[in-house]
Amino acid sequence: MSVNTAPAAPAAPPAPPVALSGGVVAIAGRPILRGINLTVEAGEFVALMGANGSGKSTLVRALTGLRPLAGGHLELFGTPFDDFEDWQRVGFVPQRAGATAGVPASVWEVVASGRLTHRRLFRPLGRADRAAIDDALEVVGLADRAHEGVANLSGGQQQRTLIARALAGEPELFFLDEPTAGVDLPNQYALADALARLKARGATIVLVAHELGPLEPLVDRAVVMRDGRVVYDGSPLAQTEVHQVHAAHHGPEDGLVDHAPQVSAPFDAGRED
Ligand code: ADP
Ligand code: MG
Repeated sequence: MSVNTAPAAPAAPPAPPVALSGGVVAIAGRPILRGINLTVEAGEFVALMGANGSGKSTLVRALTGLRPLAGGHLELFGTPFDDFEDWQRVGFVPQRAGATAGVPASVWEVVASGRLTHRRLFRPLGRADRAAIDDALEVVGLADRAHEGVANLSGGQQQRTLIARALAGEPELFFLDEPTAGVDLPNQYALADALARLKARGATIVLVAHELGPLEPLVDRAVVMRDGRVVYDGSPLAQTEVHQVHAAHHGPEDGLVDHAPQVSAPFDAGRED
């Protein structure tokens, strides 16, 4: 069939921002992720859940290229990972905010650093850069703290600074690893607000969390990991439902299970923060 003579087709759906099949990661010879299949569609908000050590952070690192895949096939926005160069479309907030400790930078500077991938080297920030930085500060509710040192902020505010830093790059695909861990409830609500605005703009969000808390209404889909595998992938359940089902039924240990109950169960035993 010739492409040239084909009738005009309706616009193809956008390629999924994330498409991983058979993803395998091994660290020091030990298998950490085993055969992960995960496709995230444009505009989806996915909560990646599971007990400590189940492989959530490793999966996020693999999807952002920080941890090489030993097997499987990964595409970002329809491009095989090895050919992908559009990193300005991807934002990442790593687990825990220790990165800012002791750094005498202002909130504005930290957020501005997230704009680097959009700038030409050594050029001063342009109007679009400044607008994106101001916007990111506004979204996380730190516009009035822009010129304070990050060291003076609370842990939750530092976390929001890092989120604003990633937002300033105006990512279409946004990974956040446990952004609510160790963050007080008002800051969790501020984060939920920021993510709701990002979602409303059409961003795709993959968020690692033990408990969803104020983020729960934003979540379209939950993916639960156990021991390096996906054991549930489906719609999130209400917290009350989870508690009921969880109490009655311990989830299976193997395979992809569509109706496993442990979606937003409190996996808090042994949490690290
Ligand atoms: P989670 O984020 O779900 O808590 P991780 O992805 O951090 O889980 O870890 C999954 C498993 O991989 C754990 O058993 C952890 O000990 C191991 N692991 C992760 N990173 C490393 C590393 N750099 N070196 C050795 N083992 C690691
Ligand atoms: Mg982790």
